[in-house]
Amino acid sequence: MALPDGVQYRTFDGEERLATRGEPVYGEPVADGWRAWDAHRSKVGAMYELGMEPGLDAGDHVLYLGAANGTTASHVADVAGPTYAVEFAARPMRDLLSVAETRGNLFPLLKDARNPETYAHVVEDGLDLLVQDVATRGQARVARANRQFLSDDGRLCLAIKARSEDATREPDDVFADVLDDLREGYEILDSRRLDPFHADHLAVVATPR
Ligand code: SAM
Repeated sequence: MALPDGVQYRTFDGEERLATRGEPVYGEPVADGWRAWDAHRSKVGAMYELGMEPGLDAGDHVLYLGAANGTTASHVADVAGPTYAVEFAARPMRDLLSVAETRGNLFPLLKDARNPETYAHVVEDGLDLLVQDVATRGQARVARANRQFLSDDGRLCLAIKARSEDATREPDDVFADVLDDLREGYEILDSRRLDPFHADHLAVVATPR
């Protein structure tokens, strides 16, 4: 799998690690302007480690749903162009705002990803990539509601958390249902479980249909 420009394996303390170039955010090792991308703390990072192609290219215009305190959104913004980062909880948003201070292309939005009409006036259309990592019920519904921002050949990079849908069912059964729902709006290109980095999570790469 080819890594996009701006994502490389670099050596930190003698260890080869996935990395992007930018200001450090969460205490990750830095060397020569590069910062290690911790796949245990980032589903997109785990996707690279597992050989998936999340659909991120240098300079991409990105909408990121569920940005939390910016761990992954910061790495994405190191690589991408304009990166709109939606998060609905005020506490992580405070951290996200300081992460954005050193990244002129990262735009935090204190919004609910289930209501895209509340940020449609800010986020541009025709985006290259929609990254979604919202630990909430109805993850396929959120992805379908935000499909409107993607260009026809854009990519959805989705991390599905089984327990957020239904903590009592087998994760694989939950994933099958979420994928069925997702197919209403997307063609699935790839899907893989994120073990051992993230238990009971399925990563999905898809394109609008
Ligand atoms: N993507 C982050 C990372 O890798 O650094 C971690 C995201 S965390 C697993 C899920 C986040 O989604 C939480 O911060 C939560 O507040 C947010 N979230 C859940 N439902 C949401 C919604 N409907 N709209 C916006 N954010 C939401």
